[in-house]
Amino acid sequence: MSVDPSASTSGPASDPTSPESAGVDRYVVAGNPVAHSRSPEIHATFAAQTGQSLVYERLLCPLEGFEASIRAFVAAGGRGCNVTVPFKFEAFRLAARRTPRAQLAGAVNTFRFDDASAGGWLGDNTDGAGLLADIERNAARPLHGQRVLLIGAGGASAGVLGSLITGRPAEIRIVNRNADKALALADSHRAWAAEHGVRLSAGGLDNAAPDGRHDVLINGTSASLSGAGLPLPDPEALVLARGGLAVDMMYGPSAMPFLNWAADQAGPGGATRDGLGMLVEQAAESYALWRGRRPPTASVLAELRAA
Ligand code: NDP
Repeated sequence: MSVDPSASTSGPASDPTSPESAGVDRYVVAGNPVAHSRSPEIHATFAAQTGQSLVYERLLCPLEGFEASIRAFVAAGGRGCNVTVPFKFEAFRLAARRTPRAQLAGAVNTFRFDDASAGGWLGDNTDGAGLLADIERNAARPLHGQRVLLIGAGGASAGVLGSLITGRPAEIRIVNRNADKALALADSHRAWAAEHGVRLSAGGLDNAAPDGRHDVLINGTSASLSGAGLPLPDPEALVLARGGLAVDMMYGPSAMPFLNWAADQAGPGGATRDGLGMLVEQAAESYALWRGRRPPTASVLAELRAA
């Protein structure tokens, strides 16, 4: 494993798996790749805002060595970690206990390393709460009664679907390149959706809006990340209602082709958001799990956007 020392948020640069840097509460984002992660700067700002002292770094784990890397970090005193691609499903299996939202997602993006007497490692998934907060609070678009289209059925979509359902939209349609995965994702959430009075349907990318346009469109595919462009095969397909909201979970310039396309469909009164708001909000949820206090997010988001 290797560590990006420039990511240390306070105190001297350190190896998170070395006991030498013990003394201050330590956290990492673990992934492969992980160099692009903006989590260290986000958590550094949260710590400053809440007057808390901690170190948050990046931990690059070998593809076959996630568990060993995490165990070394915990042995060296690590208190918690975020998990990013491609380890969220492996993290789910490693957790001794899981929050209900992690259980529903089948994936873990946050660990709190409680010791055995407290029940062992707690696995959570904060991605969905982050997306919901960004849509409902930051974009001021309550989901209640809305028709939502979620494109993608990978780890990110699995992570957010349970929380989207708690917003009680009228309907969520899930479409994916591999339609079977969309159907499986819908099936795993049927009981939860019924409990919240939400209609769930699923299908392939060529059947995104069989009942007309949606009010909210969420791109949970990695099409923007990979530079593949629009996730839907037909750019002429009308899927977003006039005045609707489009979100790409990807952030930065690579999200722009999708968001520009969606903005054309939404027209005046429409709105678009990249995934930066979701990133900051899910980080705040993780921070609250670790530190008992949810930090303010607006200024962090503004700073990141300005940068
Ligand atoms: P996965 O690899 O688990 O899933 C990828 C998904 O994208 C699958 O549904 C896949 O379809 C689909 N896909 C890939 N390429 C294309 C394409 N060219 N056209 C259409 N569909 C495509 O990735 P994740 O779910 O973990 O991540 C998805 C995105 O979400 C990434 O861009 C990631 O950066 C972002 N993300 C953002 C977060 C944030 O906080 N803002 C948090 C988590 C993720 P198929 O199943 O058919 O292969």
